[in-house]
Amino acid sequence: MRSFVPEARKRVGRKRARIVPIIERLLVEHADATIALTFRNELELLVSVMLSAQTTDVNVNRVTPALFRKYRRPEDYLAVPVEELENDIRPTGFFRQKTRSLRGTMKMLVEDFGGQVPRTLAELTRLPGVARKTANVVASELGNTEGIVVDTHVRRLSQRHGRRVCLARKPRCEDCVLNDLCPSSRTSGDRRACRTS
Ligand code: SF4
Repeated sequence: MRSFVPEARKRVGRKRARIVPIIERLLVEHADATIALTFRNELELLVSVMLSAQTTDVNVNRVTPALFRKYRRPEDYLAVPVEELENDIRPTGFFRQKTRSLRGTMKMLVEDFGGQVPRTLAELTRLPGVARKTANVVASELGNTEGIVVDTHVRRLSQRHGRRVCLARKPRCEDCVLNDLCPSSRTSGDRRACRTS
């Protein structure tokens, strides 16, 4: 089947020229974008992000109010029996693995970081169970952005599978702030290209 993508790309102009306006428009459009997890301090942020693996932020937010009333310092996570912490985070799923990670992380925070949550990617990824994605989210929220967090949603979005406007089956190009910069808006129906680059 003939591809209409190269043709459409030519009509919207060069990628380098489009990237800055695209970012600026999305910044305005999503000025209120914020992390969906609920937390009051750096430790709660770290724990929330660790618990959010393989589950939804809504689910984590259901568990954390009671959890954070009970566990206020890294030492508190180490002071209870393993089974008790497992039980307290059970609804977030993978609770045994998450308990192991939480306890390992709390131990390292106490022993190596003076009980404080570190801010750099290099330090954060030393914590047990904290991989690059978790570390990037935490570092960014702490004002030390070192990279772009690419989770499954970001990956899908970058391939034009959005949730609100750029819908997979029928993108709402007429309502989209990127309409004149997006090659996919220049194709139609089955021919619609599945990327904005
Ligand atoms: S395909 Fe349409 S809705 Fe999606 S980014 Fe392009 S113009 Fe916007």
